[in-house]
Amino acid sequence: MNLAEFRRILEEERARLSSARDQARASAAVVELDQTSVGRVSRVDALQQQALAKGLLARLETRERRIEAALARIEAGTFGQCCECGVALDQRLLLSDPTALFCAECLAERADISTPGARLR
Ligand SMILES: [Zn+2]
Repeated sequence: MNLAEFRRILEEERARLSSARDQARASAAVVELDQTSVGRVSRVDALQQQALAKGLLARLETRERRIEAALARIEAGTFGQCCECGVALDQRLLLSDPTALFCAECLAERADISTPGARLR
C-alpha cells in the first residue's frame, strides 16, 4: 500500500471522527440543572450519561490527535518509520493501525519503562 492510500484512509477516519466527536461533545456538555423539571433519578442518569460521553470524547480526541500526527508524518516524509529507532514499520502493523508510531521492539521497550519494576525481573 502506498502513501496516497494511507493518506486517504487517515483522512476518511478523521472525517468520521470529527462528526462523532461533535456528537460526544454535545452530550458531554451540559446536564440540565433545573431541579423542578428533572427528578433526582433522571438527574443521576443524566450525570452518568454525561460521564460516559466525556470518556468517549477523550478517546475520540486522542485518536484524532494520532491521526493528525500520522498525516503530518506523511507530509514530512517520515510516515512508516519507527519514531524511536527509524526502522521501517511492518506493513501489517500499518495496515492494522496507520497511526502506529513504534516498531514492535521499541514498543516493547516503552511498555517496560512504563511498568515500574519491569526491568528488575
Ligand atoms: Zn523502533
